[in-house]
Amino acid sequence: MRGKDLILIHPPSVFDFRKKPIFWGPISDTVPSTPVFEMYPLGFMTIANYLHQNHYSVEIVNLALRMMKDINFNVEKYLSSLKAKAFGIDFHWLPHVQGSLEVARLLKKLHPNVPIIMGGLSATYYAQEILEHFPQIDFIIKGDSTEEPLLYLLREIEKGKEDFSFIPNLSWRNRDGKIYHNSITYVPNDLNHLSVDKWFLASFILKGMLNDNHKPYYLWDKAPMAAILTCKGCSFNCVTCGGSCYTYSQFYGRERIAFRSPKNLIEDLSIIASFTKDMPVYIIGDLRQGGNKYVEEFLSRLRNENIDIPIIFEIFTPASKDFIDNIAKSVHTYGFTLSPESADLEVRMAQGRHYTNDEIERCIIHSLEAGASRFDLFFMLGLGKETEDSVQKTFKYCLKLTKAYHNKNFYTFLSTLTPSLDPGSQAFEYPFAHGFRLRYKTLLNHYHAYSMPSWAYFINYSTQNFSSQDIVELTYRVAYFTAELRRIHSNKDEVDLIKSRIDASKLLLKKIDEIMQLKDDLKRDEELQRLTAIIQSDIGNGILHTPFELLRALSYGYKNAQS
Ligand code: SF4
Repeated sequence: MRGKDLILIHPPSVFDFRKKPIFWGPISDTVPSTPVFEMYPLGFMTIANYLHQNHYSVEIVNLALRMMKDINFNVEKYLSSLKAKAFGIDFHWLPHVQGSLEVARLLKKLHPNVPIIMGGLSATYYAQEILEHFPQIDFIIKGDSTEEPLLYLLREIEKGKEDFSFIPNLSWRNRDGKIYHNSITYVPNDLNHLSVDKWFLASFILKGMLNDNHKPYYLWDKAPMAAILTCKGCSFNCVTCGGSCYTYSQFYGRERIAFRSPKNLIEDLSIIASFTKDMPVYIIGDLRQGGNKYVEEFLSRLRNENIDIPIIFEIFTPASKDFIDNIAKSVHTYGFTLSPESADLEVRMAQGRHYTNDEIERCIIHSLEAGASRFDLFFMLGLGKETEDSVQKTFKYCLKLTKAYHNKNFYTFLSTLTPSLDPGSQAFEYPFAHGFRLRYKTLLNHYHAYSMPSWAYFINYSTQNFSSQDIVELTYRVAYFTAELRRIHSNKDEVDLIKSRIDASKLLLKKIDEIMQLKDDLKRDEELQRLTAIIQSDIGNGILHTPFELLRALSYGYKNAQS
């Protein structure tokens, strides 16, 4: 490989998941990814594009995916073959806490003189602890926008400079081990500087089709989906969200939302549509946050361009008939996702979502009548104010809606809030006020938890009514319930397979708990190793055999992906 200025590496959630006894659970339910969490952040593409425009060569390596696709892929040999002036590792989502730090440790061992830069919201939140305890990380670029600070940093690294005090958003350790934190002052008011060059985006999509290093996630070949980010920041304050208005302003220096212009969004959509007519594009962030003018400009440009690809709109609250009709006039194929979290109004309100079930149902009816090809409704259990009664209300409500609309492109999705409360969310900062208790708060606590042999240890919270063990059990109940719900859409054999997997998973988890109680370290390790062979059958090409993955495959209609 020719040397690059920067190589961006996406780690697996846990390293090395192929050798350690890890029993996976649902740890990446909010993104199209397996528990290895092989999906890399969208920021990789905008960073690569921005640096490319500034004449820097950047390579993306989806290490997590390479490790999943080839069980014999030799990570150490591969990483030692890389040549770069700097390496970048993402630590955006908390579940990468162990994987990102361990891959960085290996990189530092192999390339002791190459600086390692970390970025992402979790890295921002834990910047002090990372630099204090993990010498393999040299720099952290904080905040939600890292492109420009990263460019400054690369220039200084090239010049061999050692004073980085002028680089915004940067935390670093000097030669004497002293840690410095520059303020987060690079917080752009809009995201138009991120507009991706047409040819760059085209080559990015092509590379994604051909090259595992660029593929965004494991199932991309069989169920490809693109995503376009409309903004950074949010006008809402959902209490468990690390991307809320509160969290952005308290920890990431953002006081107002930064939008991409409708013109930029439409340009991206046109390029994607020029490659494929089938790949759905998920519009991340409710367009309505930009106001009526913003929505109108986006939709009129969409109509004028006559873009013919399926577009899925994220809506944060039930949409009005006018908005839905306007979408229907502007797009050929479209869908909506809405996440009321709980069917119990009290729990939903406590979560920070202020709308009623009647409003939800009106939105579903309007959307389906207008011709939406899909409406997905997401529920989350194990919330702060959740009770057994509210769990039952949500189950009943999902059943009622699924029966009412099951032949009309309508799906409900249920999961528990696992594995973690987001660092910096209101629930993480003030757990008692929101009905939560924190099990872990520090980076080190989380790092050790993700080194444990099952996902049950990854859960960083309990609630006023559910212990973390209850949350584990609730997760399996939710999976069981969802499997039953899918009977309405699917064939009996698939559902029975999932249910048998759930039963087997529960037994295995119980066995791991028993082993972890053993006082004798040697005996405990031996027993864990014995279980490894069984657990390992869930990884590599068999990753979809966990019940949660099977359920997802069934729910999204890409069941053949498991073969
Ligand atoms: S979960 Fe709530 S706070 Fe977070 S991005 Fe969505 S609407 Fe905004």
